[in-house]
Amino acid sequence: MLAVSGLHAQNNPNPGYWQQHADYKMEVAMDVKTYRYTGKQELVYTNNSRDTLTRVFYHLYNNAFQPGSEMDARLKAIADPDKRMVKSFKNGAKTVTESRISSLKPDEIGFLKINNFMQDGVAAANKVSGTVLEVTLAKPILPGKSTKFTLDFEGQVPLQIRRSGRNNAEGVALSMTQWYPKMAEYDFEGWHANPYIAREFHGVWGNFDVKITIDKDYTIGGTGYLQNKNEIGKGYEDAGVAVKYPKGAKTLTWHFVAPNVHDFAWAADNNYAHDKIMGENNTELHFLYKNTPENKEGWKKLQPKTAEVLAYFNKTVGPYPYKQYSVIQGGDGGMEYAMCTLITGRSYEGLVSVTTHEFGHSWFQHVLASNESKHGWMDEGFTTYIEGLAMRALMPPANAEEAEASPFADSYAGYYYMVKSGTEQPLSTYSDRFDSNRNYGIASYSKGCIFLSQLGYVIGEEKLAETIKRFYKDYKFTHPTPNDIKRTAEKISGAHLDWYLIDWTQTTNTIDYGIKEVKEEGNATKVTLERIGRMPMPIDIIVAYADGSQESFYVPLQMMRYIKDNPFPKLKRTVLADWDWGYQTFEFTINKPKADIRVIMLDPTQHMADVNQDNNIYMPEGK
Ligand SMILES: [Zn+2]
Repeated sequence: MLAVSGLHAQNNPNPGYWQQHADYKMEVAMDVKTYRYTGKQELVYTNNSRDTLTRVFYHLYNNAFQPGSEMDARLKAIADPDKRMVKSFKNGAKTVTESRISSLKPDEIGFLKINNFMQDGVAAANKVSGTVLEVTLAKPILPGKSTKFTLDFEGQVPLQIRRSGRNNAEGVALSMTQWYPKMAEYDFEGWHANPYIAREFHGVWGNFDVKITIDKDYTIGGTGYLQNKNEIGKGYEDAGVAVKYPKGAKTLTWHFVAPNVHDFAWAADNNYAHDKIMGENNTELHFLYKNTPENKEGWKKLQPKTAEVLAYFNKTVGPYPYKQYSVIQGGDGGMEYAMCTLITGRSYEGLVSVTTHEFGHSWFQHVLASNESKHGWMDEGFTTYIEGLAMRALMPPANAEEAEASPFADSYAGYYYMVKSGTEQPLSTYSDRFDSNRNYGIASYSKGCIFLSQLGYVIGEEKLAETIKRFYKDYKFTHPTPNDIKRTAEKISGAHLDWYLIDWTQTTNTIDYGIKEVKEEGNATKVTLERIGRMPMPIDIIVAYADGSQESFYVPLQMMRYIKDNPFPKLKRTVLADWDWGYQTFEFTINKPKADIRVIMLDPTQHMADVNQDNNIYMPEGK
């Protein structure tokens, strides 16, 4: 338990950067029959801001799972509700959906009730408002000062509707995520006491010390290092240790410590298999899954692959900073938490891809803790990007066609589909404010992934790879923002990239460049390009000739003040004049007769997300 986040905060290169700090101590007792739990929480909160705080806010996420909650209302209103959260019926030809939250009975809902709230031993007024506890402080917290909050809580684990809950579809008893009173984050943008409507999270960096008392037949996996592993056993004990429980013990108390994280999650079941292997840099990889015959093959084969994924991300992004990571069967698909993930599934391929994605979030969310509610594309998109790289490197492509395709082809296809639908909203849209789940998904996962893959096109692949490593090194254990990835790319490459961040993330401007005209001029050929879309881009061009040779041309974008390295080092490249955005067309000359030209192609990598690719290629008829 080191109070290190103050130190790490100094790594963040933004002048005057600060972040709040929260040290939690919790003791909780779970009744596995009633799905109710009671606990005590002690939270030492340090105000590193320059502001005096008179109120604080806690998330009480469990309260979302009640009929009439804001989550319930949104589920009924949205055009394409999450299938996991609704029941579907056929009414003639029509499919009707019904919110599963609406029909929860009192003993099936989730709740989190708070009692005895004190600040430094003095009662503080507080009020529950939906999924948020509003606290009026007994005494203001001055800049640089700490205060101790204590409270008692009583919770009920809801039937699994989304992410957390009891008895998930695969029979896992307890998926304990978003389960405790969690301090909302206050950062340079102010409070983020967001209601829990659907989307993801933002939290305060700090340390957790958690004791969980539960029926002795249950095995727990989760965030943190088990302190009493040789008393608990269950696969956590050191080799050779024979674990003995006290005579007549009905419960065990598990003691976890998690340093420098911003959340704490766990899952428990009375029929978990638990395997442990050693990964790179002495990182213990734990696997907890239902001990059933149909699970065995996939979950066993997953284990050495997870070690490869760890090594791949260590190399590609930066060293994983904890000594443990747990892949736990639970939840409702795949969701990332500090030092662990809860996933579902049993096929080897499915388990590898979901584990690769969720493990990727350890870098892009649980170390680089961007605000998921505001910038979902930074964690989902960047994770999708490194997942794509890792899957390509570690899993053999199914066929030659797949091996040829960009690992991000699906992201581009999804983005083009969304643009065509005419319903796109900018990436900067607050996550809960997307009109449809589909567009939230395509925006944050696919368009967010393209932010990076296309940045590789813009500044060059090597500069992108360096940017990712530098971003991790500079911003780990802090809350990076969109400007921070842009500034990192600028510092690494020297390019100016304001236009890229703004157009791609704050607007729905699209890219469309085309070949307008190819004209013979004496012994040479004049090519006219045109810009049709609003978004600017530098242009790579490949020209193939009748004799089989090829050459490339590069049109720098004036506002970038930058010439990228030649992406096709085997070809001769001609760097043309800058193209200033305000001009609709651009002309250049190929020093060969038109009859010799077989193909002219814009961006052969297809990593420039050009929404109309028909005009990107010139192929004279009959060739
Ligand atoms: Zn994700």
